[in-house]
Amino acid sequence: MPETELRVRVDLAERGYDIEIGTGNLASAGDFVRRQCAAEHTVVITDQNIAGTHAATVIESLTASGMRVNQVVLEPGEGTKSILQADQLWRLMLEFGTDRKSVVAAVGGGVVGDLAGFIAATYARGIGFVQFPTTLLAQVDSSVGGKVGVNLPGAKNMVGAFWQPHGVVIDIDALLTLPDREYRSGLAEVVKYGVILDEPFFEFLESHVDAINARQTDVLAQIVARCCQLKADVVRADEREETGVRAVLNYGHTFCHAIESVTGYGTFLHGEAVSIGMLCASRLAARQGRIDHGVTRRQRDLLMALELPVTVPDVDHQALLDAMRHDKKTVGGKLRFVLPTCIGHVELVADVPAAEARAAFAE
Ligand code: ADP
Ligand code: ZN
Repeated sequence: MPETELRVRVDLAERGYDIEIGTGNLASAGDFVRRQCAAEHTVVITDQNIAGTHAATVIESLTASGMRVNQVVLEPGEGTKSILQADQLWRLMLEFGTDRKSVVAAVGGGVVGDLAGFIAATYARGIGFVQFPTTLLAQVDSSVGGKVGVNLPGAKNMVGAFWQPHGVVIDIDALLTLPDREYRSGLAEVVKYGVILDEPFFEFLESHVDAINARQTDVLAQIVARCCQLKADVVRADEREETGVRAVLNYGHTFCHAIESVTGYGTFLHGEAVSIGMLCASRLAARQGRIDHGVTRRQRDLLMALELPVTVPDVDHQALLDAMRHDKKTVGGKLRFVLPTCIGHVELVADVPAAEARAAFAE
């Protein structure tokens, strides 16, 4: 039986749950689901790239524990996170005889997790949900915090809910099959946690670049656990994004969303655009005299060592600024940013003049 090495508690009163982080622990999914949900029937939702590997491991374990299991294999990619797909899933759930005692298990990246969570939140007015995130991005970001949903054409994550899972199992070994770009994209969000909340963690990343690039599982387990803990603390303080505490997680993201939308979704992976976006935000902070250039340089050095892009693509800066103005987090056309005050701390800055925001795109 594989050992669970680390555990993070997401402390949300009666909605609280555990994140178990280990290696090879997808193979004990059955025990986990039985313990957390007392369910007899599980609907596993996954995608084609992992159906034969990680999802198969989960299903084998669920079946071995005596559970009735149905599986839905989706097409990979953001396009799957649609209301059309949700509609098909709801109908399949009905065919499977899913009831309030069944549980939905997501095995995959953020696309699978967000969609499966949305199905769990809505089917029969909400049923149990467990997550087995298999991308680094999903492990450190989308699987913590309970945001689930689907996209509308031109509006990502526009329809959804807060729906906390009964538990999350993170198998670090799953990261070993992840394509290089997907892996590095997740690392950008990892670096983000260091910048916004934890300077010793940032230093840890700086001193373990070789191990990270080699995907050393013991180091990755520590990193993933720290990120989950940091995000869990933020989510506990602001579960439904009401007090502004959760906004710190948006560091680099206003610039990131502009880059993603102007270059067309798919040109950059999300984390790649986050990497560039964080450096824009840091340059903006330096322009405003909030930090010295060394703070930006330190982030840039780490991101480059992790082989992430750091240069704004060759597109019209005015178009990028216009995209920022249309960001759904922009309030009344005023530009607001999460900016670093040092490595390990950020502040929310309102009323940033458009010209300054625009200038931050330039090196
Ligand atoms: P993300 O988690 O980055 O938001 P996706 O859910 O779109 O994004 O997953 C990114 C891609 O990686 C998808 O094509 C998915 O099928 C694939 N994928 C997910 N997990 C793994 C894994 N452990 N090994 C290989 N490919 C994976
Ligand atoms: Zn992000």
